Amino acid sequence: MTVTAAAATDRPTCSPLPVLGRDVRVPLVTGGEVEYGALDYAASAPALQRVWDDVAAYAPYYGSVHRGAGYLSQLSTDLFEQSRETVAAFLGCRPGDEVLFTRSTTDSLNLLAAALPAGTQVFVFETEHHASLLPWSRAREVQVRYLPAPDGAEQAVAALDAALAAAADGPKLVCVTGASNVTGEIWPIRELAAAAHRNGARIVLDAAQLAPHHPVDVAELDVDWVAFSGHKLYAPFGAGVLAGRADWLDAAEPYLAGGGATRSVIHTGDAVDVEWNSGTARHEAGSPNVIGAYAIASACRALTEAGFEALAAREQELLGRLREGLAAIPGVRVLSLFGPDAPRVGVLSFVVRDWNSSRLAAALSAEYGIGVRDGLFCAHPLVRTLLGGEPDEPAECGVPDDVPGGRPLNAVRVSFGAGTPDEHIDRFVNALATLVRDGAAWDYTTENGRCVPARA
Ligand code: PLP
Repeated sequence: MTVTAAAATDRPTCSPLPVLGRDVRVPLVTGGEVEYGALDYAASAPALQRVWDDVAAYAPYYGSVHRGAGYLSQLSTDLFEQSRETVAAFLGCRPGDEVLFTRSTTDSLNLLAAALPAGTQVFVFETEHHASLLPWSRAREVQVRYLPAPDGAEQAVAALDAALAAAADGPKLVCVTGASNVTGEIWPIRELAAAAHRNGARIVLDAAQLAPHHPVDVAELDVDWVAFSGHKLYAPFGAGVLAGRADWLDAAEPYLAGGGATRSVIHTGDAVDVEWNSGTARHEAGSPNVIGAYAIASACRALTEAGFEALAAREQELLGRLREGLAAIPGVRVLSLFGPDAPRVGVLSFVVRDWNSSRLAAALSAEYGIGVRDGLFCAHPLVRTLLGGEPDEPAECGVPDDVPGGRPLNAVRVSFGAGTPDEHIDRFVNALATLVRDGAAWDYTTENGRCVPARA
C-alpha cells in the first residue's frame, strides 16, 4: 500500500510553518542518505525559523535582567517583562494571573507542588505523565489521591466528582493533562475544571502537549493554573511557563532562595533576616533566562499570527491521513483510552503484532531516516494499562526478540505539528507498511539499553 499526496481530500488552508532542520539529511544503514523525517515533536519540536530569527536579532543586545543600569540591561529587562505579557495574552489569562518563567513543565509543576498550602489533597489520574503524576507526593504535608485510568472522558469527570465529593474539607488541587503524550487524546478539561470548582478544589492543567497543538484559554477553560514547555512549543531555549492564580504562590516560600527573590536581607549575628519579594520575582530567583522567555513569546506570536486554528485544522487533516494509513497495515494496534472518536492532537502511539517496538523504531530511523520514539514515554502506568499489563516480550531488541502473540514491552510513538510537511506522514506510513510486509533489511542489537543496527 502506498499513500501519496493525491490521497488527501479536504486540503488544508495553510502550509507548514518554516522550522529549522527541515532540509537536514541523515545517513541510512543500507547506504545513501535521505531528508530527515522529524516525527518526534512530542519529545521536542524543531525551532520555528521565526523564533530563531527573533532570538538572533536580539542576541547582540543581550544583557542582564532586573540587575543592571546599562542600556542593554534595561532593554533586556523590558523584553523579559513584555514576554510575560505576550504569554499571558496567548494563554487568555485573567487580570491578576501571574506568568512565571521556569525551566520546563516539570519545573513548573514542581514549583506549584512546593507552593501548596499545608494539608492540600491532590487528585491525579494514574494515567498522567510522570511530570504531573510525581511532584505532589514529594511535597510536604500534602496527601495524594491517585485515580484509576478512566474508560472514557465522561467517566473521568464522574470519577473526579465522586472522589472530590468524598474528600475531607481543606485545600484541594486537581492536576490533569490537556492532551496525552501517549495517545494524543484531549481530556475533558472544561468539565474537569467545573467538577473541581463545584467541589471547592482548584485545578492545574499540564498543557505540555496541548499548547503546541491547540489554543489554550485559561479564562475560558476556567483552570487555575497552566504549565507548558518552550521546547515543545518550537522555542528550544530552556524555558517553561507556569501561569495562573497569584494567591497560593504569593503565600508560599520562594521556590528557590537567592538573588532577585529578596526585597531585603540583613545579617545579624548567626542569622539572616530575609524579606522575600511577592509577585513573579518571589519564585524566579537567580538570573532569568531572557532568551528562553523571549523565544517562547516569539513562538506565541508566530502561532497566533499564522492562525492557530488553521494550523490545528491542518494537523487534524494530517492525523486523519496517518490513521487511515495505519488502519490499512495488518497487525497495527493504535493505543487509546477514550476510543476512536475521541478528539486528539498530532500524537499517536501504536504496537504492531509480533514486532518489538524498539526494533521497529530503530529500523524506521536506520533504514528510512524517520525519527519516532519508542518506550513507555514517561507515562509508565498509562502505557502498561494500554498494553494490557506487564510485558511478555523480552527487553532485548536483537534476535530472538519477538514473541509471536506475546504482550508487547513498549510502544512506538509518532508525533508531529506545525512544521510537518504532508510527505513526512506519507513516508512514515509507506515505510511502516514495507517493514511490516517485508521485515527489516538489517539486523539490530541492544547496546547501552538502546536498540541499534548491528555492525556490518
Ligand atoms: N507533561 C506532558 C504531558 C509531557 O508530555 C511532558 C514531556 O514529554 C511533560 C509534562 C514534561 O515536559 P518537560 O520534559 O519539558 O518538563
